[in-house]
Amino acid sequence: MTKAASAAAKDLAAAGVGGVHLAWADNNGIPRSRVVPVGGLADAAVRGVGATSLFAVFDSHDAITFSHPGLGTPSGDIRLVPVIDRLRRLAGQPALAWAPVHQLAADGSPWPYCQRSVLERQVAEATQRGLEFRAGYELEFTVTPAGSEDVVAAPGHRGPAYSPHALVGLDGFVGALLHDFAANGLQIGQLHAEYGVAQLELSLAATDPVSAADDQLLARQTIHAAAHTHGLAVSFAPLVGLGTAGNGWHLHTSVRRKGRNLLSGNGVPADEGASYLGGLLRDLPALTAITAPSVPSTMRLRPGFFAGAYAFWGVENREAPLRYVPGSALLGADHANVELKTSDASANPYLAMAVVLAAGMAGIEDAVVPPDPIAEDPGGWSEGERDTRGVLRLPSSPSEQDSALLANSRVAGVLGNELLGAFRAVRASDAAWAAERAPEEIVAAHLWRY
Ligand code: GLU
Ligand code: MG
Repeated sequence: MTKAASAAAKDLAAAGVGGVHLAWADNNGIPRSRVVPVGGLADAAVRGVGATSLFAVFDSHDAITFSHPGLGTPSGDIRLVPVIDRLRRLAGQPALAWAPVHQLAADGSPWPYCQRSVLERQVAEATQRGLEFRAGYELEFTVTPAGSEDVVAAPGHRGPAYSPHALVGLDGFVGALLHDFAANGLQIGQLHAEYGVAQLELSLAATDPVSAADDQLLARQTIHAAAHTHGLAVSFAPLVGLGTAGNGWHLHTSVRRKGRNLLSGNGVPADEGASYLGGLLRDLPALTAITAPSVPSTMRLRPGFFAGAYAFWGVENREAPLRYVPGSALLGADHANVELKTSDASANPYLAMAVVLAAGMAGIEDAVVPPDPIAEDPGGWSEGERDTRGVLRLPSSPSEQDSALLANSRVAGVLGNELLGAFRAVRASDAAWAAERAPEEIVAAHLWRY
């Protein structure tokens, strides 16, 4: 590894790169980093660079909560060790490169709060069970002139939704995105002007789960840099205004056994594929507490906004939190996947992916049989109809999310006791902050966090 890191550092230096962001995402989905000069990269790859262990208990507003006993004092240091085979030069920031890290204890042993390691454990578990996952994120974000405070009042494009005309004024930015994503080793499936106010969307190609989470972080860095160069700012926040469409970061997954996509089927998934979907649905309330965990997340998950408010699944149903995307004669069986819509930028991408994999694998293990798909929006039904069909509202407040998480040892257990404790402490800190504030203030305070 030292050899690979030394060689990479030499190449970067020759290309004029001065430093490398060693990056991770905290329990609020907020990216954090330390920059090491390229000359220090090889050493960092072995010994890591130091950081406070308190990053695990930073809340969404950079306040440190000391309420989790495992990290209850200002003392403690960890090591951030870059993953050299994910090192990328940043096309939009030519003096810098980027690499995700593992967080290790000071003595080099595993640190229970390392989110990337939690996901790696689930991938190893999948391998043990003969399963192989593919995953990819879709990113929605809102664009505004740099310096705007209210992105709805200062939209970066005026629509119409999905119109090429909406993008004309953003030509330079869009061109930079296409260039920089390719140069940074990220593959875009498509890009468009989305439905919401000044909203854009791009999708990332499916890959293995750990790379998909790494890619999601690198994509944010890439988008922010391109926006900055073009006099713009982008908000990845789950909600940028009350009453407007939110920014979903939908997570697509599929699972294979012996090379066969278990989700392929005749219009609906069958057998193990159906159980995978059934497992996700069974655990959806607790999953959502990890995949859409912030206060603005709970505000985003309203009926009628294609974000997922009730626990159900459907075939290509845009309102369903679990949207089954079938394969077809045109697209092939491999195309089939499940989209989780109750997912956004305030989730740690590694933890979100880890709990989704675990819930799906448990569904397969338990041969869960999902209920019939729903083609309508149950938000338009009466409460009685929803009760009859067994369609429940997803947790819609921090305390409901916490209860859902605590009630589900299958999902909570994925994090392990220490990380679960830190995660819940951070959520409680966020909830206490929000309890005293008006919705507008809550939305505004999260706009630039992700
Ligand atoms: N903006 C919606 C959300 O909050 C998603 C719209 C769509 O289906 O792409 O997730
Ligand atoms: Mg979309």
